[in-house]
Amino acid sequence: MEMNPLKAKDGEKIALMGNEAIARGALEGGVWIAVGYPGTPSSEVIMTLQEFGAEIYAEWAVNEKVALEIGIGASIGGARSLVTMKGPGLNIASDPLLSASYSGVDGGLLILVADDPGPITTQTEQDSRWYGPLAKLPLISPSNPQEAKDYTVIGLELSERVQLPVILRTTTRVNHAIGEVVLGKISEPRKFRSFKKDPQRFIRAGMTWNLERHRWLNERLVEFEKLAESFSLNRVEGNGEKCIITEGIGYQYVKEFLLNKIESGEKFRILKLGLLYPFPRDFLRKALRGCKETIVVEELDPFLETFLRSELLTFGFSTRIIGKDSGHLPKEGELDLEKLRNLLLGGQNVKDRSLDSAVPIEVPPRPPPLCPGCPHRNSYLGILGGIARAGFSRKDIPIFGDIGCYALSAYPPLSAIWTEHSMGASISMAMGLKLSGFEKPVVATIGDSTFFHTGIQPLIEAVNKRVDMLVVILDNQVVAMTGHQATPSWTKTETGRDVKEVKIEEIVQGIGVDELKIVDPYDLDSMVKAVADSINKRGVKVIISRAPCAILEARRKGRPAYYTVIEDKCTGCLACLRATGCPALYVNEKGKVSIFEEDCYGCALCARYCPTKAIVRGDSVGKKD
Ligand code: SF4
Ligand code: SF4
Repeated sequence: MEMNPLKAKDGEKIALMGNEAIARGALEGGVWIAVGYPGTPSSEVIMTLQEFGAEIYAEWAVNEKVALEIGIGASIGGARSLVTMKGPGLNIASDPLLSASYSGVDGGLLILVADDPGPITTQTEQDSRWYGPLAKLPLISPSNPQEAKDYTVIGLELSERVQLPVILRTTTRVNHAIGEVVLGKISEPRKFRSFKKDPQRFIRAGMTWNLERHRWLNERLVEFEKLAESFSLNRVEGNGEKCIITEGIGYQYVKEFLLNKIESGEKFRILKLGLLYPFPRDFLRKALRGCKETIVVEELDPFLETFLRSELLTFGFSTRIIGKDSGHLPKEGELDLEKLRNLLLGGQNVKDRSLDSAVPIEVPPRPPPLCPGCPHRNSYLGILGGIARAGFSRKDIPIFGDIGCYALSAYPPLSAIWTEHSMGASISMAMGLKLSGFEKPVVATIGDSTFFHTGIQPLIEAVNKRVDMLVVILDNQVVAMTGHQATPSWTKTETGRDVKEVKIEEIVQGIGVDELKIVDPYDLDSMVKAVADSINKRGVKVIISRAPCAILEARRKGRPAYYTVIEDKCTGCLACLRATGCPALYVNEKGKVSIFEEDCYGCALCARYCPTKAIVRGDSVGKKD
């Protein structure tokens, strides 16, 4: 039976993923409100709280800004709060973030921001550590699941003591690493205590008192740095004259490299930072004494390195700094042992056993496909078909995309969307192109959760300014890409909370679009017709292309009848594969097409494109379902 990480006892040692450890830390730290917007690599924190029955408020919000504002609201009433998001989500939430540093909090408020070096699932390699100095908020960074849990508890405690929100910044390899974690005691959730009217604190429009609050904020930061020392967030390991300053996953790589991998007699002194901002000057001034060379090991930007270079001048030290600005480590991509080998060994001929035994494997690149049976495949085929039926070439009509799994339509064979920029950007970018003077029709496509997130305001803008465009809202009724989280169109959340359904069509109608149609994309003829009829009309036309995510639907209702290929009828023309790119189809050893029955979701799309009618329902040829 699976261990419940939220119910395991104080003192137990269990294996946890970094995000599960943060969820556990939230309960040990007395969190009452946990709220976030799904985004890899942060999603499993709220999911763990939901799945394992945390007896607190643990729900998704419509976007990160709303999530953070809920957290701020709860914390100024004295409740302890956790807000979670991925890196670009903090850009959405940056407005309340920068005001929160002036208003401060009463109950501890921890903001988890998870970055994605690589990037593996994110549009940019954003380094959110810069939000520490930008917002002037304390920034802490764990290196492994144990620290992820411990820093969650410490961050909440420090936040409450200095009255400032604290940013817990992680990267993918910390969020998704699994390690043994020694558990602490679950605390009673800290709920509402009091909330008093205090305009100078909570109203940001008063310029005089904002100056005073800025002074207060600077004093709080000094206090935070002093207090953090007593929680041992920073430490020194070893005593060599070659010093390594590192944090986050960089520390794990350094440890692995130095302790397990190389046969070197050289001694290193590791300065492991858990507090990144305020930059721990006093700690470093002492810890760096006697260092002849200082190597900075960090992922993404030279964040620590930049601070270090400016601080060393004030320290009066002459240690040489090696890192990213010196060209020894790349500023892009994840860290790995090979990069560290070059950096730490500095060209010395020292044996690294692990790398010598590694056998390079060539993996052919494969574009990520939409899932078998995915309704987005039908939606885009419908849009492309509608463009053609209306007499346009697909080369002439830009289709703007948005953030979600439907962005995979960019790859062949669909090659549908022309852009995928940032959350909610499809409609406003399409509008910008039209306003620039582009005369042909434009199509904006946006998923349901992205529409709720930041797509509503752009639609208001397009309607208000009377811009001609077709907007297709791809409504699969879930936040599919990040693990099937709830959207506002659900009537019950993951925790069983009864909620009021918010209907996309009512929002769209309320905004006053010129035309609204709701179409089932599995009915491809209707989808093609709807697009063809609307695309060249004046005004803002909206088609809601509505069908549930195939994977989720199969989980809920069981898998529908699969399709199969009658081999004698198949000529091997590959029309089915070329049209759909469905990953359940493959070319067999005879050069004909077959279907992985266990992968087929029975959408019938491939059968539509077969000229010889070789693709039929499995049960129609007497096979089991
Ligand atoms: S019916 Fe065809 S297109 Fe649909 S999921 Fe099965 S193999 Fe793929
Ligand atoms: S379209 Fe039909 S005939 Fe052509 S490869 Fe596919 S199954 Fe065979």
